[in-house]
This record gives sequence, structure tokens and C-alpha cells, in this order.
Amino acid sequence: MSSYPARAVVDLAAVRSNVRSLAAHAPTAQVMAVVKADGYGHGLLPTAAAAVAGGATWLGAAQVDEALALRRGGITGTRVLTWLYAPGAPLREAVEADVDVSVSAPWALDELAVAARVAGRPARAHLKVDTGLGRNGLTPADLATILPEVLRLRAEGAVEVVGLWSHLAFADEPEHPTVKHQGEVFADALRTVEAAGVALEVRHLANSAATLTTPAVHYDLVRPGIAVYGLSPVPQLGGHDDYGLVPAMTLEAELANVKVVPGGHGVSYAHQYVTTHDTVLGLVPLGYADGIPRHASGTQEQPGGPVRVGGRTLGVAGRVCMDQVVIDLGPGATEQAGDRVELFGSGRDGGPTAQDWAVAAGTISYEIVTRIGARVPRVHV
Ligand code: PLP
Repeated sequence: MSSYPARAVVDLAAVRSNVRSLAAHAPTAQVMAVVKADGYGHGLLPTAAAAVAGGATWLGAAQVDEALALRRGGITGTRVLTWLYAPGAPLREAVEADVDVSVSAPWALDELAVAARVAGRPARAHLKVDTGLGRNGLTPADLATILPEVLRLRAEGAVEVVGLWSHLAFADEPEHPTVKHQGEVFADALRTVEAAGVALEVRHLANSAATLTTPAVHYDLVRPGIAVYGLSPVPQLGGHDDYGLVPAMTLEAELANVKVVPGGHGVSYAHQYVTTHDTVLGLVPLGYADGIPRHASGTQEQPGGPVRVGGRTLGVAGRVCMDQVVIDLGPGATEQAGDRVELFGSGRDGGPTAQDWAVAAGTISYEIVTRIGARVPRVHV
């Protein structure tokens, strides 16, 4: 256990219950919990295990190394899909570790076939089609080109295509016409693949937002990420409570210093915040090196990111520094060094959430939780 007076406490019961809520939103589909980026900053293995305990039958990892880490970490009975790699990636290891591999380009199919032959066992592939996100994925022309090869590799016993999938550009705006358009392009791709005689096991298109708002694209498998960790993917439409989600991560610290200063005292670099009267300042030992966004610095007029202390919520005073931020506890405050503060958490009892920090920093909650620095200990409870 670290002696550092700050930590990210991850509530694994919340992860389990979030997966159950997501499954209830998509009753006809299986759930793939997306655990890339160290489980969105929550810790890869504990959150993956909790997601499985909550009912996830698949895990999603962007990088091959993340997928392999799941297997090495003892997650063996659950399907794992990896989807982001460049030529030369350790696909043989992925095949040997029984990891499903996405194919987003013709070269990837070739490399997967080689990997399967070397591994001496068939690879399972999911063809990813770019239905309109304009990011990774096969173009319709690529798809048509590789289908004969897909059939040849199946006959050879090298690669079995088991999935067809894509990713939405406007899932967080369910009424956006692009959602419908991508659904149609996906349906076309499905028809093409099935007409060629490929027997798909799973078709998947929905991230958290689409899982919660757009049943038409649930297909056989939904791929929620942020909602597994209890944060709303569509804060403009509904908060975590509205979707039966509980934010899993609480970022907390002990005050490292408390002191009385007079009015007119400049606080932190460049004195962006100046006290207006005698007051008490508290020092929170977390800064931008720990993922506290510098954009959530505060002034007298525009309080910075929220910090819960002694039942009240205060804004960061002055600039966020590398290791620390200051809060203005107010005149006569009785807090002491060592008292607990919460930067964000479950939102119960009116405390701030990662979404509140996202608003303060002009970003999305994804960026808040995934950027919590490696030196902040994760404590799983
Ligand atoms: N599927 C893919 C391909 C992704 O890249 C991601 C994450 O960005 C997800 C699913 C999960 O997305 P979300 O966290 O919005 O649910």
C-alpha cells in the first residue's frame, strides 16, 4: 500500500452492477465490457474480473498487449477481442492465447493467417467495416476484395471469420441521421458477408451510448466502455442515475497542509486566484501529473474543478500545479492537515463526479478517468 496521501478507490460492486444494468438495457445481446486503457484507468484485471462477474461474456481491448495481459492475468474462460495493431503485431501470441482478432485491412487478414499457421490452430477474426466513422475498418471495396480470401482461409482451417462489426460516429446523438445511415451501411455489409456464405457468430455495433439509447443497433453483442465504469456516455440526455449506473471510481486525498492567510494573498502560479479576505487554504496533493486537468484551474469569478470537503463542495483556487492544487476553505474553516477530501466519486450525497470535472475542464468524463496518473494508487474494494 502506497504511503502517498491520495488514491483512486474503485468500487468493483459498482462495476458488476453497471454491467447488469447494461445487460438489462440490451436483453437480446451479450455484453462485451471494454477494458482497454487499463480498464479506463480503473485497473485492467480487477475491473475485467468484476465485469465478467456482472455478466459480461466478452472483454474488449484495443491493443494486443492488453488482450494478452488479460489472459496472463488469469482471465481464461471469457472471449476477448483485440482490434488495434500495426503490421508486425504479436498475432501468433494472440491466437495461441485464444484471443479473437479484428481485421480492419487486407494486410491484417494476411498477417492473421500467417500467425494461425505458425500457431498451428485456427484464428478467430471479426471483420471491422468502416460504416461512416472514417477511422479504422475495411472500406466496402476492401470487404469485397477480401471475401474470396476469407472463404479460402476458412477452407484451409487457418482463419474463421466469426464476427462483423463497426463503430458509430454519433452514438451520443441518437437522433443524428448518421446513426441511421451507419446502421444501413452495416446491414448492407452483413448481407454481403452472409451472401458469400460466411456464418457469423456475432454482429456488433453499439458502444455505451448506443447500448443505452438505440436498441435498433444492439445486434448480438453490445460493447460498452464508459458505462461499465458508471459514467453516462450521454450527459446531455441523462446522468448516470437515469441509466441505473454508479460511478465506480472515487478520487480522494488527505489535505497536506492547512493555513490561514490574509486577504489579498495570491494563490498558486501567476496568482490567478487572490483571496478577498482572511481565509484558510487547504493543499490537496494531486496535480496535473496525476491527471487533474490544468484546464480546471480556478479564479474568484470562475471556480475550478470541484472538491468535496467537510460536506461542502469548493472549486480549485488558482492554477492546478504538477503535484498539487489549493482550495479556499473559507474564513474560520476548521479542517486540519490529514482531513479527507474527495475530488470525484459516486455522486451520492451530492458529491462531485468525474462528469463534473469534465465540465470544469471542458472535456469528457472519459478523459478524466483514463488520465488519472500511474502514480496514483488504485485501491479496489
Ligand atoms: N468499441 C470501440 C471500437 C471503441 O473504440 C470503444 C471506445 O472508444 C468502445 C467500443 C466503447 O465506447 P464507450 O466507452 O463510448 O462505450
